[in-house]
Amino acid sequence: MNTLTVSVVTPDGPVLEDTFEMVSCKAESGELGILPGHIPLVAPLSISAVRLKGPNPQRIAVSGGFLEVRPDKVTILAQSAERPDEIDVERARAAKERAERRLQAKQDEIDFRRAEHALKRALNRLDVVENR
Ligand code: ATP
Repeated sequence: MNTLTVSVVTPDGPVLEDTFEMVSCKAESGELGILPGHIPLVAPLSISAVRLKGPNPQRIAVSGGFLEVRPDKVTILAQSAERPDEIDVERARAAKERAERRLQAKQDEIDFRRAEHALKRALNRLDVVENR
Protein backbone atom coordinates (compact mmCIF):
# COMPACT_ATOMS: atom_id res chain seq x y z
CA MET A 1 0.00 0.00 0.00
CA ASN A 2 2.04 2.96 -1.27
CA THR A 3 -0.65 5.44 -2.14
CA LEU A 4 -3.67 7.06 -0.57
CA THR A 5 -6.90 7.94 -2.30
CA VAL A 6 -7.68 11.53 -1.37
CA SER A 7 -11.14 12.96 -1.73
CA VAL A 8 -11.98 16.61 -1.05
CA VAL A 9 -15.67 17.41 -0.77
CA THR A 10 -17.50 20.73 -0.20
CA PRO A 11 -21.20 21.65 -0.15
CA ASP A 12 -20.82 22.52 -3.86
CA GLY A 13 -19.68 18.96 -4.63
CA PRO A 14 -16.40 17.06 -5.01
CA VAL A 15 -13.32 19.24 -5.62
CA LEU A 16 -10.78 16.50 -6.15
CA GLU A 17 -10.35 12.73 -6.00
CA ASP A 18 -6.96 11.26 -6.86
CA THR A 19 -4.12 9.18 -5.42
CA PHE A 20 -1.15 10.69 -3.59
CA GLU A 21 1.80 9.49 -1.54
CA MET A 22 1.34 11.79 1.43
CA VAL A 23 -1.08 14.34 2.85
CA SER A 24 0.20 17.24 4.97
CA CYS A 25 -2.42 19.30 6.69
CA LYS A 26 -3.13 21.37 9.76
CA ALA A 27 -5.58 19.90 12.23
CA GLU A 28 -6.72 22.10 15.11
CA SER A 29 -4.41 20.01 17.31
CA GLY A 30 -1.38 20.64 15.07
CA GLU A 31 0.33 19.65 11.83
CA LEU A 32 -0.36 16.14 10.53
CA GLY A 33 1.61 14.16 7.97
CA ILE A 34 -0.39 11.19 6.74
CA LEU A 35 1.21 8.31 4.88
CA PRO A 36 -0.53 5.17 3.54
CA GLY A 37 -1.37 2.76 6.36
CA HIS A 38 -2.10 5.51 8.89
CA ILE A 39 -4.38 4.56 11.77
CA PRO A 40 -8.01 5.66 11.39
CA LEU A 41 -8.58 9.18 12.64
CA VAL A 42 -11.13 11.97 12.53
CA ALA A 43 -9.96 15.51 13.27
CA PRO A 44 -11.17 19.09 12.81
CA LEU A 45 -9.04 21.07 10.34
CA SER A 46 -7.78 24.63 10.70
CA ILE A 47 -8.26 27.27 8.00
CA SER A 48 -5.09 26.25 6.19
CA ALA A 49 -3.40 24.72 3.16
CA VAL A 50 -3.67 20.99 2.50
CA ARG A 51 -0.59 19.71 0.65
CA LEU A 52 -0.99 16.55 -1.40
CA LYS A 53 2.38 15.02 -2.29
CA GLY A 54 3.28 12.65 -5.10
CA PRO A 55 4.21 12.82 -8.80
CA ASN A 56 1.41 15.33 -9.35
CA PRO A 57 1.40 17.45 -6.17
CA GLN A 58 -1.48 19.75 -5.28
CA ARG A 59 -2.10 22.52 -2.79
CA ILE A 60 -5.59 23.32 -1.63
CA ALA A 61 -6.88 26.17 0.53
CA VAL A 62 -9.49 24.81 2.94
CA SER A 63 -11.66 26.88 5.27
CA GLY A 64 -11.74 24.43 8.15
CA GLY A 65 -13.87 21.31 8.11
CA PHE A 66 -12.99 17.73 8.95
CA LEU A 67 -10.39 15.19 8.03
CA GLU A 68 -11.21 11.48 8.03
CA VAL A 69 -8.26 9.11 7.71
CA ARG A 70 -8.43 5.41 6.91
CA PRO A 71 -5.35 3.32 6.01
CA ASP A 72 -5.95 3.68 2.25
CA LYS A 73 -8.10 6.83 2.07
CA VAL A 74 -8.21 10.42 3.28
CA THR A 75 -11.46 12.36 3.04
CA ILE A 76 -11.57 16.11 3.62
CA LEU A 77 -14.97 17.68 4.16
CA ALA A 78 -14.72 21.45 4.09
CA GLN A 79 -17.06 24.42 3.79
CA SER A 80 -14.84 25.62 0.93
CA ALA A 81 -11.77 24.24 -0.84
CA GLU A 82 -9.91 25.84 -3.74
CA ARG A 83 -6.87 25.02 -5.83
CA PRO A 84 -4.48 27.95 -6.49
CA ASP A 85 -5.80 28.45 -10.04
CA GLU A 86 -9.37 28.69 -8.73
CA ILE A 87 -8.58 31.46 -6.27
CA ASP A 88 -9.64 34.97 -7.23
CA VAL A 89 -6.80 37.07 -5.80
CA GLU A 90 -8.66 40.39 -6.06
CA ARG A 91 -11.61 38.92 -4.19
CA ALA A 92 -9.33 37.55 -1.46
CA ARG A 93 -7.53 40.92 -1.16
CA ALA A 94 -10.86 42.73 -0.90
CA ALA A 95 -12.05 40.23 1.75
CA LYS A 96 -8.79 40.76 3.67
CA GLU A 97 -9.19 44.55 3.65
CA ARG A 98 -12.85 44.35 4.61
CA ALA A 99 -12.03 42.03 7.52
CA GLU A 100 -9.16 44.28 8.68
CA ARG A 101 -11.46 47.32 8.66
CA ARG A 102 -14.04 45.42 10.68
CA LEU A 103 -11.44 44.30 13.20
CA GLN A 104 -10.39 47.92 13.73
CA ALA A 105 -13.95 49.14 14.27
CA LYS A 106 -15.39 48.78 17.76
CA GLN A 107 -17.82 45.92 17.49
CA ASP A 108 -19.47 43.25 19.55
CA GLU A 109 -17.63 40.00 20.08
CA ILE A 110 -19.62 37.93 17.57
CA ASP A 111 -18.84 40.31 14.70
CA PHE A 112 -15.21 40.48 15.81
CA ARG A 113 -14.90 36.67 15.69
CA ARG A 114 -16.61 36.61 12.31
CA ALA A 115 -14.15 39.19 10.95
CA GLU A 116 -11.22 37.23 12.41
CA HIS A 117 -12.34 34.10 10.58
CA ALA A 118 -12.91 36.01 7.34
CA LEU A 119 -9.37 37.45 7.65
CA LYS A 120 -7.94 33.96 8.17
CA ARG A 121 -9.75 32.64 5.09
CA ALA A 122 -8.50 35.54 2.96
CA LEU A 123 -4.88 35.25 4.19
CA ASN A 124 -4.95 31.50 3.63
CA ARG A 125 -6.16 31.95 0.03
CA LEU A 126 -3.47 34.55 -0.66
CA ASP A 127 -0.84 32.26 0.89
CA VAL A 128 -1.93 29.29 -1.25
CA VAL A 129 -1.76 31.42 -4.41
CA GLU A 130 1.67 32.88 -3.56
CA ASN A 131 3.18 29.48 -2.85
CA ARG A 132 1.78 27.81 -5.93
P1 ATP B 1 -15.87 36.57 0.43
O1 ATP B 1 -16.06 37.59 1.51
O2 ATP B 1 -15.02 37.06 -0.70
O3 ATP B 1 -17.15 35.91 -0.01
P2 ATP B 1 -15.43 34.36 2.21
O4 ATP B 1 -14.19 33.91 2.91
O5 ATP B 1 -16.50 34.90 3.10
O6 ATP B 1 -14.99 35.40 1.09
P3 ATP B 1 -16.43 31.72 1.90
O7 ATP B 1 -17.68 31.83 2.71
O8 ATP B 1 -15.24 31.06 2.52
O9 ATP B 1 -16.01 33.18 1.35
O10 ATP B 1 -16.72 30.97 0.53
C1 ATP B 1 -17.94 31.09 -0.19
C2 ATP B 1 -17.73 30.50 -1.57
O11 ATP B 1 -16.92 31.40 -2.34
C3 ATP B 1 -16.99 29.17 -1.58
O12 ATP B 1 -17.51 28.39 -2.62
C4 ATP B 1 -15.55 29.55 -1.87
O13 ATP B 1 -14.86 28.51 -2.53
C5 ATP B 1 -15.72 30.77 -2.75
N1 ATP B 1 -14.64 31.78 -2.60
C6 ATP B 1 -14.51 32.66 -1.59
N2 ATP B 1 -13.45 33.47 -1.79
C7 ATP B 1 -12.90 33.07 -2.96
C8 ATP B 1 -11.77 33.52 -3.72
N3 ATP B 1 -10.98 34.53 -3.33
N4 ATP B 1 -11.52 32.88 -4.89
C9 ATP B 1 -12.29 31.86 -5.31
N5 ATP B 1 -13.35 31.39 -4.64
C10 ATP B 1 -13.67 31.99 -3.49
